[in-house]
Amino acid sequence: MKVACLQFAPEVGNVQENIRRADNILQNTRIPTDLDWLVLPELAFSGYNFHSLEEIRPYLEPTTSGVSTQWAIQVALHYTCHVTIGYPEITTPSTNPSDPQTQYNSTVTISPQGTILHNYRKSFLYYTDETWASEGPASNSHKLSNAESSDAPFFAGELGSLGKVTLGICMDINPYRFTSPWAAYEFASLALSSSTPLICISMAWLCHLTPTELMENPTQPDVATVAYWVERFQPLVEAKGDKPVYVILANRCGMEKGVCYAGSSTVLRIEKGAVSLFETAGKSEEKCLVVDLTERPKFQVRSGR
Ligand code: GLN
Repeated sequence: MKVACLQFAPEVGNVQENIRRADNILQNTRIPTDLDWLVLPELAFSGYNFHSLEEIRPYLEPTTSGVSTQWAIQVALHYTCHVTIGYPEITTPSTNPSDPQTQYNSTVTISPQGTILHNYRKSFLYYTDETWASEGPASNSHKLSNAESSDAPFFAGELGSLGKVTLGICMDINPYRFTSPWAAYEFASLALSSSTPLICISMAWLCHLTPTELMENPTQPDVATVAYWVERFQPLVEAKGDKPVYVILANRCGMEKGVCYAGSSTVLRIEKGAVSLFETAGKSEEKCLVVDLTERPKFQVRSGR
């Protein structure tokens, strides 16, 4: 299986320019004819750092029918691959126009035939999301015991011909609102109990580097961020499972209103307690990272049993 992360630096609110940037990167990448899955960052074309509903309103897209979905369908058909892209969703009004509309921070996944496979709504919101988005509908379940609810807060299930997949968006891999225990590992626990061989996270992950530090060695990853991501999958590491689990972390890079993003998109494998890294993009690099999961990973970051 071949997967790709399109890491780039969208500008907040500059949708047409952001699309042009993404197209440009794809045109300058040798995309294999047998690519299975192309993943874009969270809120890829709208940009991420909005501070209110009023601010993001002009960029909201109706459920699986806005500009991001249209783009993803075209790209899926062109490369005959699955495409997952993050976008700011507003629900379409039902037959009763007085029914309230709801906003979500979502991803849509398209099949290689151009059909909509799944719309996922971010469950664990980051501070900025809370100003405009609601939690994904299943997100109440993490406050309940398993006995009380069978709804998981994240998606884990069949995703077309990709097979069984766990999907999340950025903060989903953190403790709920940074208040639940670190070791609750809500996201990784679901991935583990669902036995999905593939995990995919679309992200706009921030970093603590200064703008100057971010621009130094742009092709080097932010190692602290990658190490943190690996740490959030600890339950899968400790399970020491024989079957490999592949994790795709598709982040954005660049800056928005003084906020720096970590780039460093990463594809890794967890197997028998060992964590290996296939490839990592640089922290300030705009590129499409293509990884063949059947090849040997480049580095081992944690040895196994
Ligand atoms: N905890 C993440 C961060 O620090 C969350 C950001 C997000 O959800 N986009 O970047």
